[in-house]
Order: sequence, then structure tokens, then C-alpha cells
Amino acid sequence: MKLAAEERRARVGGPPGEWDVIVVGGGTAGSVTGIASARLGARTLVVEALGFLGGTATGALVTPFMRNVAGGKELNRGLTDEIKARLRAQGDGAVDPDGNDNWFNPEGLKFVLEDLLLEAGGEVLYHTYFVGAVVKEGWIQAVEVHNKAGLSTLRAKVFVDATGDADLAVAAGAPFQAGDEDGHHQAMSLRFLLGNVNLDDLSRFLTEIGLPQPCPSFMHFAMAWGSGSPLEPLFQKAVTEGVLQKRDGDYFQAFTVPGRPGELAFNCPRIDTKFDDGTNPWQLSAAQVDGRRAIRRLLNFCRRYLPGCEESYLVAVAPLVGVRESRRIVGDYVVALDDILNCRMFPDSICRNHYPVDIHPVRGRGRRWDDLTGTPYSHPDAFHEIPYRALIPKRVNNLLVAGRCISATFEAQASIRIQPNCHTLGQAAGTAAAMAAQNGVGVRDVDVSELKRILREQGCVV
Ligand SMILES: Cc1cc2nc3c(=O)[nH]c(=O)nc-3n(C[C@H](O)[C@H](O)[C@H](O)COP(=O)(O)OP(=O)(O)OC[C@H]3O[C@@H](n4cnc5c(N)ncnc54)[C@H](O)[C@@H]3O)c2cc1C
Repeated sequence: MKLAAEERRARVGGPPGEWDVIVVGGGTAGSVTGIASARLGARTLVVEALGFLGGTATGALVTPFMRNVAGGKELNRGLTDEIKARLRAQGDGAVDPDGNDNWFNPEGLKFVLEDLLLEAGGEVLYHTYFVGAVVKEGWIQAVEVHNKAGLSTLRAKVFVDATGDADLAVAAGAPFQAGDEDGHHQAMSLRFLLGNVNLDDLSRFLTEIGLPQPCPSFMHFAMAWGSGSPLEPLFQKAVTEGVLQKRDGDYFQAFTVPGRPGELAFNCPRIDTKFDDGTNPWQLSAAQVDGRRAIRRLLNFCRRYLPGCEESYLVAVAPLVGVRESRRIVGDYVVALDDILNCRMFPDSICRNHYPVDIHPVRGRGRRWDDLTGTPYSHPDAFHEIPYRALIPKRVNNLLVAGRCISATFEAQASIRIQPNCHTLGQAAGTAAAMAAQNGVGVRDVDVSELKRILREQGCVV
């Protein structure tokens, strides 16, 4: 028997009351948003499509955290520090000989984020997809979700969109941008883990060919055509011998992972550039197939050409395709490349960034840090700020956006999107959302100097 939507909702039953804050999406930004909001005493629910927190960091196996440092100091502190300390305490995080404490095990991160959220008093609803917004005169009344119980609505005073794709903001009528000026997105990747690697042998080999490794437990190596990597002749040979396709050398990168001895996490393959839209389910499906086929080739390549990998096996292919950039909201302020290059400061700043503009292009090579030399941003002490207004989508009064889909141009997003910034943006969004809910105001009426005072008290650099 087919039930009308209203009847189905009534049968499933409403949620137990109303939340102060509902966060849609429990990835890097969303889980931290939930923790920050719950810690301020707001009744907080995180709605997540998957069965764990961490999103791209855990489900797409994206490790390590990229370093965001100016003047020798980390710019992301607060909850980022707590997450890293918890990871180290459970053996899933580590500090390398250079003092870089950003190495982590994605599987361990799932536990850390969940513990922190639940300890703060936050609630989580897994295996639940956001599908629609109930909006009245610019105020979101409720979100419509779908899960094994069917359709239901969840009500809150304030909402945070941390879906990475701005699903809620767009459904609520907020304007957005997507891709570059031609509508092309950054390339997607399907990451994987390789096990039973003899890291001593591999480290020795890489050091011998001119890719020195600090030690076998902290390895990082990469190759892209034309980058001058000493691995290029090996790739060329593998292409000639039919083991690899030419495109497999467009981007190849691997890292060791703390807590997983003998394993490497690969930041590749890059998906066929025909498929670049992470909000198109048909393209995402094609990307999964294309990525898995490329992983089979790379597995063969590693076993046959890389000393130390002869007996290696595939531990896991990421369940999620890695989407670097999809939709970005148009907010009360749009962070632009010019703001970054000129190290722009804002009175309502809630995050500081000094990461290169890292475009993984679908055509040709990306514009990276090298191209920015001579700008104020290239100075090692430089950083730019991100204003609170970049989290506020136009046309909606009780919604903030956190993570990779905040209000920024294509180029600016390519610098901002790294996980430590997503933490800090989430901490600001969660704190501001709780303040708005508790004071009964919209997100534009949050006292920003009070918000910054609280964030500073929590250790954030603002
Ligand atoms: C291939 C790749 C490599 C990268 N390399 C690095 C790196 O080495 N280091 C680094 O720091 N950063 C790296 N980045 C960038 C960084 O990982 C991401 O920008 C960041 O993780 C995005 O976090 P987020 O919270 O905004 O989104 P996500 O982590 O993608 O979280 C979104 C969450 O929302 C959920 N969701 C989405 N839609 C819905 C819905 N409708 N209903 C319910 N839930 C929903 C998803 O399941 C997910 O959990 C990389 C990114 C990619 C793709």
C-alpha cells in the first residue's frame, strides 16, 4: 500500500521535541560544529548519511591533516588540538621528527569524533539523508530526512549545513556557485590503502633515487608528469609496458599512516576528468567504477615496480569518492583570491589560513603556491582571515554553512578547504548557532565580538 507523504510522516512519528541546533552532515566540519554547539549547552543533533562521523576524512580515507602554519605557529587550534591529542592518546595520531603533529589514522578518527560529540551531550542520527527543507519567510522551520523509518521532519531553531555540497542551503533557497568560470570542478579522487608494505625497503629505495624519507614510519612521496619526480622514469616504463595508463601518472601520492604499520594511504587515482561533479549521482557512480579500475592498475604497478611493495595487498578502497569542490554558497561575504593574496583581515574574522591555492585541475596543471611567489601571501609569516559573514548564506535567517562549501570563489576555496580549516569553521559555526538559538535571534544578529571572545577562550586563533 502506498502512503501519502504526510501520512507516512505521521506514522513514523515526530522527533522527541525540538532541537536548538540541527547540523546536517557529520564530516570534518559538521562533527566539530556539533561538539562546539553541544558544549555551549544547546540541544544539538547531527544528522549523517553514513554510519560514522568524519565524512571525507574517514569515509574517503583522506589523511593526513594538511599543515596550516604562519610564523612557525599552527593557525588551527581549539578543537583541532583536542582531536589531535585524542588521536595520539589512542595510538592513531603521531608527531614526526620535524614536529608535524598532523598524521592520523582515519579509522581512529571515527572514534574520537563520536566520543567528543557524545561526551559534550550532542546527539547523532546516522544512516539518515537530508532530503528537503521546510522554509517560511526565510526561516527554516524543519528539515525533511529519509532513513529506514521512511520520511520524517526534524525541527530546530537554528540549522548548520555541513554537507560539503550545501544541500540544505540550496534546498532552503540560498544562491550558490559551482566549479570554475567554465563550470569545471576540481578533479575527484578515489583513495585506497595498501597493506603488507616493507616500509624499510621502500624508504631505502626512495632515498636512493632522490626522494629522501625522514624515516620509514613517516613517509610521503609523489609523482606527477613534468614535476621532476625521480619516479617519473618508472611510470614511463609502466606505461610503455601496458601496466599503467598515461593518466595514472597525472597525480600519484602516498603517505604512511600512524597506527597502521606496513600500510600506505594513497591520494589517488585521479578520476577520469569526464566525471567531475560530486553532486551528480550518475557521475559519482561512474567515478567509483573508474577509480576502482585505476586502483587495480596502480596495485599492479606498486607490486611490480616499487621495492618493498612486492607482497602488498589492497586493504581498502574508500567507500566515498573524494570530492574536493562542488557547490559553494553565496554568502554575506564571498572570500576571493585577492583577499588571500593580499592577506586581508576582517573585524568578524573566525579563522586564519595560510595554505597554498591547491587546484587539482580537470584540464592542464593547477595553479599552486609557486605561482603566488612575490605576493604578500608568499611570506612565511603571512595569513589571511575568513569572516563570519562567509558562513551566512544569503536569503536565509537561521542557517550557517561550515566546511568546504562556505562562501568563497573557486580559487579561494582551493586554499581554504583543508581539514584543519574545516574544524575551525565548524567550531565557529557551532558556537554561533548555539548563541543564536539560546538568544532567540537569527544568525546575523549574533554578537560577533562575544563569539570571538568565546572562540579565543576555547583556544582558537581569531
Ligand atoms: C581526494 C582529496 C584529498 C584531500 N587531501 C587532503 C589532505 O591530505 N589533508 C587535508 O587536510 N585536506 C585534504 N582534502 C580536503 C578535505 O579533506 C575536505 O575539504 C574536507 O574533509 C571537507 O570537510 P567537510 O566537513 O566540509 O565535508 P565532508 O567531510 O565531505 O562532510 C560532509 C558530510 O556530510 C554528509 N552528507 C552529505 N550530504 C548529506 C545529506 N544530504 N544528508 C546527510 N548527510 C549528508 C556526508 O556523508 C559527510 O559525512 C582533500 C580532499 C579530497 C577530496
